[in-house]
Amino acid sequence: MKIDTKCLHEGYKPAKGEPRQLPIYQSTTFKYDTSDEMGKLFDLEASGYFYTRLQNPTNDMVAEKICAMEGGVAAMLTSSGQAANFYAIFNICESGDHFIASSAIYGGTYNLFSVTMKKMGIECTFVDQTLPEEELAKYFKPNTKAVFGETITNPTVSILDFEKFARLAHSHGVPFIVDNTFATPVNCRPFEWGADIVTHSTTKYMDGQGVGVGGAIVDSGNFDWMAHADKFPGLTTPDDSYHGITYAERFGKGAYITKATAQLMRDLGSIQAPQNAFYLNLGLETLSVRMERHCKNALAVAEFLKSQEKIAWVHYADLEGDEYHDLAKKYMPKGTCGVLAFGVAGGREASIKFMDSLKFASIVTHVADAKTCLLHPASHTHRQLTEEQLIEAGVAPDLIRLSVGIEDVEDIIADLKQALEQI
Ligand SMILES: *Cc1c(COP(=O)(O)O)cnc(C)c1O
Repeated sequence: MKIDTKCLHEGYKPAKGEPRQLPIYQSTTFKYDTSDEMGKLFDLEASGYFYTRLQNPTNDMVAEKICAMEGGVAAMLTSSGQAANFYAIFNICESGDHFIASSAIYGGTYNLFSVTMKKMGIECTFVDQTLPEEELAKYFKPNTKAVFGETITNPTVSILDFEKFARLAHSHGVPFIVDNTFATPVNCRPFEWGADIVTHSTTKYMDGQGVGVGGAIVDSGNFDWMAHADKFPGLTTPDDSYHGITYAERFGKGAYITKATAQLMRDLGSIQAPQNAFYLNLGLETLSVRMERHCKNALAVAEFLKSQEKIAWVHYADLEGDEYHDLAKKYMPKGTCGVLAFGVAGGREASIKFMDSLKFASIVTHVADAKTCLLHPASHTHRQLTEEQLIEAGVAPDLIRLSVGIEDVEDIIADLKQALEQI
């Protein structure tokens, strides 16, 4: 099946007489006939549902759809994109370990990696993702366990050079983890370019209508944990909390997701509510048509902004001449996403006047959904970052992040135009 068809038909597949739409298993627990049957589930000797903190059928069917869309072998849903990125790293890093991340990643992930995970003894080095390969190689240490980046960075909309990062990660014996939130598997499938694990904030385009916060992790099954057994003891040595199971031996290509479910979800409990997984599935059904429209509208808006005297600069990789245009064409030939970044001439005061003058394009923290919205990262999402960190993350003080929706593009441009006239 092509990706557009997968959006509709992967995951839940009803048999004769069953509901056409994904059922919501709104149940905390699942019934068994004998004590022994239940015991086997707890020992991971049999597979089956027993408690929704670990797994729920509705969630699993939605995870299976996302897995098929990305071309992976196993996937899980989490309660948020933050939880997905935390689990993705924490599943293979422990106290004393180190990993490398692009400095241009989403502010929330930056805080997670730089402050909270540091308190857990896990150190992250943030790198300029545009550096040449030999420069980036210098950041690897003997205790480096992973490399992390975003397909399209939030909010600077830079494009990750997958092949460069995959080579770097693999030549150092560690997996390459990619947050594919903005591109979605409709526009980019990082596994086809060497990524090993993909994460999502499903809160964005996948949900698409701002209904539910959620996340997902997908494993390509391509990383050979046993070949680097000394680096990843959590996967390659017995887990005492499961009577000595060794995940990579017992579960093969499913090891990474099984461990994240059986251990991290069990102990940390960031499960997505089945009701939210149902909403997410509704969003996924229309994802490919929405992405096409988001990209088409965003390109027209980027071209409009570029032609305006009151606009200082515009970043949108689908724009001819953008510094990331070649990478975008290579990795996302169908288009990147609906998010673009620009600066209003006249600095902060003019930017605020512009934003406050918009009629239906609204100021919200959200991004990447059906309705056009925007925000000023330096005063909103990236408020906690210091001036220095802002520069390191590439967030210019005048950067406005515009998330172009699927309204009629003439209306979007008219709204922007009348707001510009107020400056
Ligand atoms: C929003 C976002 C996150 C965090 O996701 P939540 O669902 O808000 O927890 C992570 N990565 C990227 C790229 C995002 O845009």
